[in-house]
Amino acid sequence: MDNPTNKSKEFLLDLLFPKFCLGCQKEGTYLCDDCRALLEISEYSYCLCEANGKPKRLLTDQPQIGKCNQCRNKELSGLYFALPYKEKQLTKKLIYQFKYQPYLKDLAKTLASILIEHFVLSKKNTNDIWENRVLIPVPLDKNKQKIRGYNQSEELAKELSVILQIPVISNNLIKVKPTKPQMELKKEEREKNLENAFQLKNPEELSGKKIFLVDDVYTTGSTMNECAKVLRSSGVKSVWGIALAREE
Ligand SMILES: [Zn+2]
Ligand SMILES: [Zn+2]
Repeated sequence: MDNPTNKSKEFLLDLLFPKFCLGCQKEGTYLCDDCRALLEISEYSYCLCEANGKPKRLLTDQPQIGKCNQCRNKELSGLYFALPYKEKQLTKKLIYQFKYQPYLKDLAKTLASILIEHFVLSKKNTNDIWENRVLIPVPLDKNKQKIRGYNQSEELAKELSVILQIPVISNNLIKVKPTKPQMELKKEEREKNLENAFQLKNPEELSGKKIFLVDDVYTTGSTMNECAKVLRSSGVKSVWGIALAREE
């Protein structure tokens, strides 16, 4: 990976397309240390549900517990996220540029390192959490992926995979119909929108596995929930979510 050819390629790319901090425009990286320090990377665990319009904090020091009693029947076992989406303009900017023009695909490295910092701060950097797990990115439909040229969730999963040393499987869970953004829809339309949108190509490959579903933003949770439903119907052991940011 870090061979001399790659290094010189990177050097040339930097000359041709210098990186600028998305926070302060300083040259050299997409996120300089000063701007990174301004992000409030979460050190706590939260349930899938909300209390008073905010994600409900889990009052446990066991990161293996991902949800409260009321949520025990939900498809997802829990959600790890590093940043609140609304709080900082910079968070929005990082995610926006990761997905839209000029398509800073490379941002995946920076964003993965933010997630890793969250895992460390919230004591989720233990073997029992990551052992025998598989990362699965939330898929895009074919057209969307063609326009963007990549699936941002897959890029994020690939970077996490390198650091956490767990495999990514990105060709099994697929999206078979385009959907509208869930945020734009009324509650009753949301379910219909996602109905039969996801499929597994090879359910046997995942049977008995513990899955981490990766996405850039967790908004209403309905997309991840639908993916989790499809995965669980094929006999996977558990499905947790990982998102860089959570909308609140
Ligand atoms: Zn900066
Ligand atoms: Zn809950």
